[in-house]
Amino acid sequence: MANIVAIVGRPNVGKSTLFNRLVEERKAIEDNLSGVTRDRHYGHAQWNGKFFSVIDTGGYVTGSDDVFEAEIRKQVKLAVEEADVILFVTDCHDGLTDLDKEFANELRTTQKPIYIVANKADSADKALMASEFYALGISDYEIYPIAATSGSGTGELLDQVVTHF
Ligand code: GDP
Ligand code: MG
Repeated sequence: MANIVAIVGRPNVGKSTLFNRLVEERKAIEDNLSGVTRDRHYGHAQWNGKFFSVIDTGGYVTGSDDVFEAEIRKQVKLAVEEADVILFVTDCHDGLTDLDKEFANELRTTQKPIYIVANKADSADKALMASEFYALGISDYEIYPIAATSGSGTGELLDQVVTHF
């Protein structure tokens, strides 16, 4: 059984940057079963001797609000269906936004483990922002402040994530 980690969150929080940091080998986006090209990337990663796959969601074009909301729901649903662990990425520069709350509402009913990853915690000052995201109320775990660009904090996050595998 594959161990699958899905990275979800609103645009520009750093999902793809985190994905690129985690994966060693990238795969095409093709979903051969359905014949549809989904806007997602798959990669393979390992940590502490555990192997897992990572799904990067997003990269979609924003249209009207309706299209956007439908897209959010679709992506979160697909990721949640496939994933064993969900990384919900937020942004310490922006803090908690309405769109974060919309994503969180889509995730609220899942029984799967959700980790809130407070990205762009480039400094201790910014990392303090991370506690703001507890208000989302969707995670049983502590929030992990990271900086995807430098890799700071990702080790602590992965130590926890692979305990599910
Ligand atoms: P996505 O839309 O969620 O996939 O976000 P991207 O990975 O494309 O990143 C959006 C922007 O945030 C890019 O300009 C990244 O370089 C920047 N970014 C990502 N991670 C960090 C980080 O840890 N710190 C800072 N300061 N910027 C970051
Ligand atoms: Mg992206």
